[in-house]
Amino acid sequence: MSCADVVDHYLSEIDHNSRLNAFIEVYHEEARSAARLIDAKLKSGQPLGRLFGVIVGLKDVICHEGHAVTAGSAILSGFKSLYSATAVDRLLKEDAIIIGRLNCDEFGMGSSNENSSYGKVLNPRDETRVPGGSSGGSAAAVAAGLCMVSLGSDTGGSVRQPADFCGVIGLKPGYGRISRHGLIAYASSFDQIGILGTSIDDLALCLQVMAGADGMDATASMLPVPTYTEDIRETPTFNIAYSEEALDHPSVDPEIAAGIRGFLDMLRQQGHKVESVKLDFLDHIVPTYYVLTTAEASSNLSRYDGIRYGHRTSTAAAKLEDIYALSRSEGFGKEVKRRIMLGTFVLSTGYFDAYFTKAQQARRRIVDQTQEIFKNHDILLLPTSPFTAFHFGAKSDDAISMFLADIFTVYANLAGIPGISFPIGKHSNGMPFGIQGLSDRHGESKLLQLFKRHSD
Ligand code: GLN
Repeated sequence: MSCADVVDHYLSEIDHNSRLNAFIEVYHEEARSAARLIDAKLKSGQPLGRLFGVIVGLKDVICHEGHAVTAGSAILSGFKSLYSATAVDRLLKEDAIIIGRLNCDEFGMGSSNENSSYGKVLNPRDETRVPGGSSGGSAAAVAAGLCMVSLGSDTGGSVRQPADFCGVIGLKPGYGRISRHGLIAYASSFDQIGILGTSIDDLALCLQVMAGADGMDATASMLPVPTYTEDIRETPTFNIAYSEEALDHPSVDPEIAAGIRGFLDMLRQQGHKVESVKLDFLDHIVPTYYVLTTAEASSNLSRYDGIRYGHRTSTAAAKLEDIYALSRSEGFGKEVKRRIMLGTFVLSTGYFDAYFTKAQQARRRIVDQTQEIFKNHDILLLPTSPFTAFHFGAKSDDAISMFLADIFTVYANLAGIPGISFPIGKHSNGMPFGIQGLSDRHGESKLLQLFKRHSD
């Protein structure tokens, strides 16, 4: 097959599945001409990049020069990227073909993709259910075969949880492993670009290409990038931890807990050592996450003022402040407003110490206890989500229950460690579910190695 044939195949799949609403924009002509260029290179014997002909979708929070990027928000309507994210530059340099821009919850805030200004994304496994969020479009597109891999962003589970809900693999590397330059900020000390796909090999290769230091992001890790694509050829046995408390947690669906227990037994049979550890902080992680991320978001989103980017109110305003207030009130959706208000509150004089400082202290303890776990263990296994994909509207009126559903994923972002969601079973309700692997700060190779044999 030529790359042009491959692109045509995916474009027609995208068009046939437009009801899923996974793509906000499809780059028909651009993808075709990129494919023709690569085919010409191939024909003339020129060297090809490591991702030649790989069809990639980008979540609408990742900048791609000359293309619209809106973070799923009306406040950025009409905005075009002035430069590309480092991750995107690195993919393109290896001849990947970017086929379009993927739907997501506004500014990455959500767990169901119901908070997008472009409307909901349908879960391809059951169109009456949510695809998860916030990278719902990224997961649905891969699950429905509309692209080979997609990029998402993960501040508290937004790559892993939709991967879990749609039955694909989702990897959030450790904090700083992939540059955040060109990723629209939600909570900067949590945000990380991640990859969704259907095989460990694909994820390893994409990570290999995108990872590494970047002069444009001072928080990108300077540590040398491991050889992920080589590492996955080895099958070491690991010291694996899991948490009985997590499996017995009242929020966890018993069928998911049973599926995970079965998977743990299989790992034991494969020679891994598997033992339960105590996670004392389990009930603190969701409150800590929502105090800190909303605080960071209230600061990051203050730049959308109606003056510099995107939407500006058309109502005649008497004062500059009215332009700000009107533009922001019209441009932001309900969930984003809720979080800006919550974040502003926890940072305000009088409440700062009680909430923000306290949450920073809680984060420190979570990090310390995490380091203790990884002194003696290579990998910690947890559920990705307490339940499978739910029906539209089931949780959208109950913010607390939506927040609590993030219990197992926000942990990795608080601790800055990598996490992967890997599909392991099917629930009696017909929906897929996965298991989540976590490792120490730069342990992505171990996660890829553990799941490699189950992915082939
Ligand atoms: N569901 C979480 C939230 O709403 C995670 C979001 C994310 O990772 N971007 O904040």
